[in-house]
Amino acid sequence: MELNNLRVISNPIVNQSLCVIRNKETDTQGVRLAARKLTRILLYEATKNLPLKDIEIETPVAKFKTETINPDITIIISPILRAGLIFTDEAVDILPQATIRHIGMYRDEKTLKPVWYYNKVPMPVDKPENYYVYITDPMLATGNSLIEAIRLYVEKGIPETNICCVCMIAAPVGIEAVFNKFPAISLIVAAVDECLNSKGYIVPGMGDAGDRIFNT
Ligand code: URA
Repeated sequence: MELNNLRVISNPIVNQSLCVIRNKETDTQGVRLAARKLTRILLYEATKNLPLKDIEIETPVAKFKTETINPDITIIISPILRAGLIFTDEAVDILPQATIRHIGMYRDEKTLKPVWYYNKVPMPVDKPENYYVYITDPMLATGNSLIEAIRLYVEKGIPETNICCVCMIAAPVGIEAVFNKFPAISLIVAAVDECLNSKGYIVPGMGDAGDRIFNT
């Protein structure tokens, strides 16, 4: 699927991990292990947008000019609670310099609209162009929660091009809704599924990601 800045990541490890998390016979421990493997791969892909800076270091053998992630930028990982937390451990391993800013929203089961209960997104942002934000949520269903989360950062002046949403499974309707509102953000997913059912679950999906990850 080619749409705006959507990237669907596919490789044998991703495919195998998706099979494990989708399978209703997989227990919580199995879901967590496979989901973490998957999130790590997705995060590697997502961070390809980070700006680099030339530096000189000294190895035990010689001086060496190379490049590294620009240390002057601010990197934010924003998991949408609660299922988005599954990305956090991998994210802080990969990006130890990142700040974690949790966003608490749950989905009203009748309206499918997001209901806020926690917002750890900073107030005034200095030099917003130096901020790089990764919003994580395993399931992109209607897109309502993700749109609310993106809006928080866009309203602080952070360019859409510096905002990347990372999801495991997405529904076409959600992808379209997000890009309609914020055409310049990027979206990294492992799978685009068929549709949503009448309860707002992704089909075939993996069921309720929070329940499957947290054994509730
Ligand atoms: N959230 C989930 O956890 N699963 C879905 O299928 C859709 C939204």
